[in-house]
Amino acid sequence: MIGKARGYLTTLRKWQRSGKKKGKPAIPTASNHPTLYAGTFTLELDALDLRKSFIRLKVYTGSEWVWVHYPTLYNRYFGRRRVEPGWETESPKLILGKQSATIHCLQSKTITAKKIVESKRDPDLVTVAVDLNVKQLAVITVRQHGVIKETRFVSDQGLDQHRYQHLGRVAKKQGQSGRAVKGERSNQQLWAHVRQQNVDSAHQTARAIVEVCETYPGCVLVFERLRKIKASGGSKSKRLNRKQANQLKGKINQLAKEKAYAIGVVSVEVNPHGTSQYCARCGCKGVRFTYQAGQRVTGKGGKLFACSACHYECHADFNASVNVHHSFFREFHWQPRAQKSG
Ligand SMILES: [Zn+2]
Repeated sequence: MIGKARGYLTTLRKWQRSGKKKGKPAIPTASNHPTLYAGTFTLELDALDLRKSFIRLKVYTGSEWVWVHYPTLYNRYFGRRRVEPGWETESPKLILGKQSATIHCLQSKTITAKKIVESKRDPDLVTVAVDLNVKQLAVITVRQHGVIKETRFVSDQGLDQHRYQHLGRVAKKQGQSGRAVKGERSNQQLWAHVRQQNVDSAHQTARAIVEVCETYPGCVLVFERLRKIKASGGSKSKRLNRKQANQLKGKINQLAKEKAYAIGVVSVEVNPHGTSQYCARCGCKGVRFTYQAGQRVTGKGGKLFACSACHYECHADFNASVNVHHSFFREFHWQPRAQKSG
């Protein structure tokens, strides 16, 4: 950090002396974040009131090096990992943004876990499958000996609708001014709110998934490989909302894997092909439907699933979640051959 800052200041002074207008040296940016090695920083996070924590940085004022205290804010997950045994905090990195600076601390933990191939041979293996959706954020099913032992639905508790309304306001504002007004406060606040809700929701859902895993030691967590769904069609707010929903899925997926790994549970991704179209009971193709005023309405967006061969009917997301297990064990004809484990 000292080197980078020193280098920057030297080039800046040279540039100032040269009297040129063009070519003002850029401050160290995202591409060259300084790493703060021991001796240049101290993290004073062990204070009793965690909200009052601060970081001490050695900074160059232009004439001398001084220690300066900067108050810091950090999320509770970071704080929790700091006190949990086994976690190591690596040298923090200083990330300079346009209006703020953040300190990134990579936290790491050494984990011992079984390999997927080894686990797959175990006849008593428990698989925990997750189907990620929009309104039912996650449908978690637990299977052992070919039987579903437990099912858990994690609802978004109205988040999708709530976000849609916010994004409607964002879209309206952008429409009025032709384009997004740079630095406009209220839109920024709306976005920050939407993002924060997504992050909270992702952590909650990931925690729910890992809680299930925790009750089955040695289980394997199975996800579908996430598809890139283009957020096209519909109104602007609808498209923005789809995009946020997709990002939320990705975040849940990532966090659940990380949290699971931290408790020694390995995750695997399976091909998503067919999981929502085929019957989890007999493997035949089925249809999605919903009830509207007591009438069965068949359609792609239907919440329910019906099999035309065995007449099995269930919640469509539950059907998909059970199919994730089938996909992992490659039990049905529609299952793709090649799978990558990770
Ligand atoms: Zn069937």
